[in-house]
Amino acid sequence: MQLETLLDAARHLHQSTPRLNEFAPWPDDLIRQDKPIVPCAAIGHIQQLADTTPLVAAIQSAAPFLSWRQSYTADQVGQDFLDRYGYVELFGPSGQFHSNQLRGYIAFWGNGLQYGWHHHEAEELYFGLHGAALFHSKSKPNAQLVPGSTRLHTSWEVHAMDTQDLPFLCYVLWRGPGLAELPKMSE
Ligand code: ZN
Repeated sequence: MQLETLLDAARHLHQSTPRLNEFAPWPDDLIRQDKPIVPCAAIGHIQQLADTTPLVAAIQSAAPFLSWRQSYTADQVGQDFLDRYGYVELFGPSGQFHSNQLRGYIAFWGNGLQYGWHHHEAEELYFGLHGAALFHSKSKPNAQLVPGSTRLHTSWEVHAMDTQDLPFLCYVLWRGPGLAELPKMSE
């Protein structure tokens, strides 16, 4: 129930936001998958956000029922990062709803975290939902993302991100070749 409400809230935001729709239309091949509930330390932090926008509220309600993931290890990013970060593949090749057309994540970072240089083949669009993050790229100027603003990463673009005083909750889309891969930390 919470998962369907979350998907509906994501779809509503996606379809009513030209920058998201232009990146890729909402997928029409979604099939719900049986994913185990996997909790994550980030849930408590997400539920503390004072935010009543529909998608954030839906994320807060659904958070305890989702299959949370972390692509990195403490050796790579440190334990504090792991304690205050997590993401869910809402839809995509291995998502809570299967799609081969598009991948959509909900991702969270607590304040004061540094997400180092990384890259992936798929093109990516970040959309801020709550808080703020500073985005870095090897190929374009830095940009601060806030709710409603977007940041595009082209295929294999090396990028990084850090949060400062505020946490950051976002909706992230992947399209094109490499859709089913994971990001890799850059050397
Ligand atoms: Zn990325």
